[in-house]
Amino acid sequence: MVSQLSIVGAGIGGLSAALALQHSGYHVRLFEQARELREFGAGVVISPNAMHALNFLGVGERVAGEAGRAGVYVSRHFETGEVLKIRPNDYMEKFGAAYHQVHRADLQAALASAVLRNEPDCVRLGYCFESLTQDSERVVATFTNGETVTSDALIGCDGGASKVRACVFGDEVVNYTGQVAFRALVPMADVPAGLNEHPFAMFVGAKRYFLHYPLRHRTIMNVIAVGREPKWQDEGWRIPATVEEFSNLYGDLYPPALQLIRAISPGTVFKWGLRDREPLAQYTKGRVTTLGDAAHPMTPFLGQGACLAIEDAMVLGRAFAAANTLQHAFVLYENTRKQRANGVQLASRRQGDEIQGATARGPNPGTDALDRGLYAYNPVTVPLTHGDP
Ligand SMILES: Cc1cc2nc3c(=O)[nH]c(=O)nc-3n(C[C@H](O)[C@H](O)[C@H](O)COP(=O)(O)OP(=O)(O)OC[C@H]3O[C@@H](n4cnc5c(N)ncnc54)[C@H](O)[C@@H]3O)c2cc1C
Repeated sequence: MVSQLSIVGAGIGGLSAALALQHSGYHVRLFEQARELREFGAGVVISPNAMHALNFLGVGERVAGEAGRAGVYVSRHFETGEVLKIRPNDYMEKFGAAYHQVHRADLQAALASAVLRNEPDCVRLGYCFESLTQDSERVVATFTNGETVTSDALIGCDGGASKVRACVFGDEVVNYTGQVAFRALVPMADVPAGLNEHPFAMFVGAKRYFLHYPLRHRTIMNVIAVGREPKWQDEGWRIPATVEEFSNLYGDLYPPALQLIRAISPGTVFKWGLRDREPLAQYTKGRVTTLGDAAHPMTPFLGQGACLAIEDAMVLGRAFAAANTLQHAFVLYENTRKQRANGVQLASRRQGDEIQGATARGPNPGTDALDRGLYAYNPVTVPLTHGDP
């Protein structure tokens, strides 16, 4: 059907897409702007809907083995620590796949080593995508290193601020949400004893939440916090912040959790301003499609962005296995994914409003991804939605 398939971006979405396409018998080339394949230090929740795909693609066992067993999740009152909601760890029984908290570097390494085992030369580092042209026969991508690459099809997996998306669909409205996220990792030995009883916890309060959960067999505590900050903040994962500014903004947090913020080593806390974008009317144009955050950039309130990128990849691989033409493969992919992914994008926005809504009734644990029915989706078995080939 096609012989030259290019993927732009080797994040979770790009690597998963490469693996799923290889699984369907295709050769791929991945172009990544970074000079080495390296994820930043943070955790990511991989829920059963995405674990189905990782299991099918042969990396689930490694990912689960590195994560360690997840525990019972609790929602707690931001100031008092009172337990508001308990979520048992019964995902395997309910959905046939587990729920894991994974270090992003471990997930990336598991995907990358599987992709490179299939095709040792398929990743090109130091290739920052700049622009593209396409006609009925091919796509030509230009990179900032001056190289051009010709392909039969191109898949933009270059994240929320996707340049591929901008090239194909033009400029878009981007809203700073007025929310700033902080992230850090803390060695377990430095975690205050007051948090030991519930290591997987989310503290919900008016206009802020604070989340911690262990990674790597409970040797590291992952910390993520999101709160309102009217001042404009940059987008991106690596903007340095200070422990002082973090703890000042969360000064009324439950004291043991505030102690956890203060236990963060200087120089290891980062922040960024969250962006919200409208769902795309289409993911594909001609020989170019988008996947993951490039197709449906979303706020992090349901913890589903990476999971949806993995779902996309699984469905894309299946579409390429099922179709006889590139056009049909892209139609199957987009028709199967758009309603699901755009729906989660909007649900994530609503979830943000719910959990951070200042209410007279006190904190609101929200309607999480499980309660919204999002984990029941299985990208390995969901019927491919046909359209005109
Ligand atoms: C605070 C927070 C917490 C989150 N927690 C979760 C969670 O628990 N579970 C979950 O499922 N999701 C979570 N997410 C969302 C998740 O991180 C993203 O949805 C996911 O990383 C998207 O993967 P991606 O591969 O599409 O994009 P990215 O991870 O952004 O990868 C894009 C890749 O493309 C490369 N690239 C970018 N531009 C170019 C270019 N011009 N040329 C070449 N390469 C390029 C980048 O270097 C990168 O390697 C969270 C997000 C935030 C902000």
